[in-house]
Order: sequence, then C-alpha cells, then structure tokens
Amino acid sequence: MAATRITLERDPSVARAIAADPSSACESDLTAAPWSFDAAPGYGPGSSSADPFPAAAPVQGEIPAEYRDASDAELHERIRAARTTLGERVVVLGHFYQRDEIVQHADYVGDSFQLARAATEHPDAEAIVFCGVHFMAETADILSGAGQNVILPHLGAGCSMADMATIDEVEECWEQLEDVLGPLDKEDEDGLVPVIPVTYMNSSAAIKGFVGRNGGIVCTSSNARTVLEWAFARGRRVLFFPDQHLGRNIAKAMGVPLGLMPMWNPRQPLGGSTAGELEDSRVILWHGFCSVHRRFTTAQIDKARAEHPGVRVIVHPECPMAVVDAADESGSTDVIRRAIEGATEPTTFAIGTEINLVQRLAAQHPQHTIFCLDPVVCPCSTMYRIHPAYLAWVLEELVAGRTVNRIGVAPDVAVPARVALDRMLAATP
Ligand code: SF4
Repeated sequence: MAATRITLERDPSVARAIAADPSSACESDLTAAPWSFDAAPGYGPGSSSADPFPAAAPVQGEIPAEYRDASDAELHERIRAARTTLGERVVVLGHFYQRDEIVQHADYVGDSFQLARAATEHPDAEAIVFCGVHFMAETADILSGAGQNVILPHLGAGCSMADMATIDEVEECWEQLEDVLGPLDKEDEDGLVPVIPVTYMNSSAAIKGFVGRNGGIVCTSSNARTVLEWAFARGRRVLFFPDQHLGRNIAKAMGVPLGLMPMWNPRQPLGGSTAGELEDSRVILWHGFCSVHRRFTTAQIDKARAEHPGVRVIVHPECPMAVVDAADESGSTDVIRRAIEGATEPTTFAIGTEINLVQRLAAQHPQHTIFCLDPVVCPCSTMYRIHPAYLAWVLEELVAGRTVNRIGVAPDVAVPARVALDRMLAATP
C-alpha cells in the first residue's frame, strides 16, 4: 500500500509523481508531452483513452515550437508575465481535477458550476480562460456577457461522459418515447407530462438546449436531488442523461425502486427496454458513465477498511451504485473538500474521485492521512491535456491582440440552454 498511497505532501503534482514512477500510472503515455497526441483524434492518455471518440469532436492543432520546447520554469514565467500585462482583462478558471501546474495560475478553483458562476462575476473581463473541459467552457459562454470571449486552452479537452449523449441520439430517444408514451407535452389529470428531461451539467450545450426546449432542467452533482424533486413535481417520469450512475444513486436515495429505472442504450431500439418497462418507469437512465469514477470498486473500499481501521470513505456520486452504497458518504467534489476541511481531529480519508483533487487535498491537509481509493494513478485524461504550454500560448496570443481557441455557443442553442440553467438556479436554494 505504501508504494501507491497518494500522500505527496511536499509536491502534490500528479505529473511529477508519474514522471518519478511511471509504473504507478495507468498508462506509460502519461509521461509523454500532451502535444505528442494532438495530431490524432482521441482523448489522450489517462482514464478516458479507451472511450469512443466522436468524429465531430474538436482536435487541437499544433502549438508553436517555442512553447513545446520551453522549460517548465520558462512557461510559468511567461504565464505570470502575460497575466501581469493583461491584468483584469482576463480571468483564469481552474477545475478541481486540473493539474497543479495549471491550478497555481488560476484566479478561481472549483467545480464546473462554481467556475461558471465565477465567470459571471467578472462582466468587465474581456476573456475568460477556462482550464477545464469543453462543456464547461460552453456553459461559461452561455452565462457570460455578450462581449466576453471564453477560451479553452486545449481544444481536445472534451469529456468522454458528455460525449456519450449526442444531440442526434437524444432527439431520436425523445421520438421513440413519444411513440410509447404519447404526446410528451400533454399533461394528464394530475397536471403531469409523461417525461421531464434532466441533463447533468456534464453535457454539451446542444443537450442543454434540447432540455430547455422540452420543459427540462440541468443538474449538478450537488443539487441533483433537488432537481429531481422539481422534475417529479412536473412529470410522471424523468429521462436522465448522460451519467447513469449519478441518476441511479440519487434516485435510489430518494426511494425510487431499481426496477423502475430502465437503461436507455442509444444503440438499441427503445434503448434496450420494452414498451411496458418504459411505461412503468420512474427514471430512464442514459447509458453514460465517467471513466474516472468507474474505476472505483468495493474491493478497494474493503482493502482501505482492512488496512486503515476507522477510515472515512467518501466517494463521488458518479461512482457505481455498489461503491456509493459501500462508502461512508458520497457527494460532489465540493462536498468532499468541505468534509475534509471540517474534520477537527486527525482523520484517515479514502477518497473516490479524480487523483489531482485527492493529491491536492492531501498536500493541503497534512494533519490528515488522505489517499485515493484507486491505487493506480490515472488522471482524467481530457483535463490532463491542458499543460502550461497551452496556457502560456493562449495568454500570449491575448497580449498580442489575438483570440485563439474561442468556444462560442450559437444563440439558437444558447437561449434554450440558458432557460434550462436558469430553471436549475431557480429550483436550488
Ligand atoms: S472526470 Fe469524468 S466527467 Fe469529469 S471531465 Fe473527466 S471524463 Fe468528464
């Protein structure tokens, strides 16, 4: 256990940990420079590398050699200098799962929704550099002002879970549900429509727009229960996408029987269920998942309990149901962070979420023993693509008066997506 425990208090960088001991990582390619993979479509090395990559997903072009060849020290100095020159014209946002080499330059660090809100608090900034993944930058663009540009430093930083529900697949699903359930906008005698679409924040702007157009709502891992209550007050059932695990875990905690939660596999007629199963359902779960959180197992929890009596096991609700059930607690990244911050006595925590966050929490709280349940170092591969070289490049381009890697959402998508996001804001305290 000692060889794989993630308690590098003095140097929390996952990249350096992998470089020091490549055998600790899930893929040896993680020691290569991220631009080695920019020419080929794909998520790059890490947890999502084996997930199917959509043909339409953006691919990052080659960045200039001066960035690829620069030392770490030079890149950090160039980032700091560009930030000083740009001043309040730019806001840099860093997701919890981002590399430490990037997080150190961020004005705000948080989950996707916290960061989207942070973007709205700077209406005078010309540019919002979002060091996260594609759907987060889209959400920031939807919520930010008309004159602001949202920049994603690496266009290949997608999210394999978000990519598991495309707009074409969701629209096809909606049509098939209408064939089974009747007109989907027609209320019954109780004032309920047949189905309310609910999308996790981790979805494309097109999906959020679909939800907004069809009476639905967005949720995050923090507010999923409140959002499902909102949906059940308006519909007989919920179509939840793209993460089956979050939907199942939250609905189960609300008392929905597992037998009333059929799966929708977009590659099968009626999603692989019968018409009767769909009619009887309360929550229809899309066949999506996060390849980071799918790695966690009950065997890892058993091992942590055997080796650390009294350990507090906290996992993210994107983990499979059996893992959530076996843990002591489950909650969003912010819930995990606050649980550790709130522990007044030295405590041993085994955490089931992305390694960059776990390792950073361990470095920030040396009074506790904090380790990742997964003994293999396997970062979110898409977040991992944002290396300081790309951040230096986009910032220096801004200094030169050029905007590269802008993420923009067309108004016909942004307007209904904003409706779905505003419903969430109104529904959650
Ligand atoms: S951790 Fe999972 S859900 Fe989050 S961005 Fe990475 S692949 Fe997507």
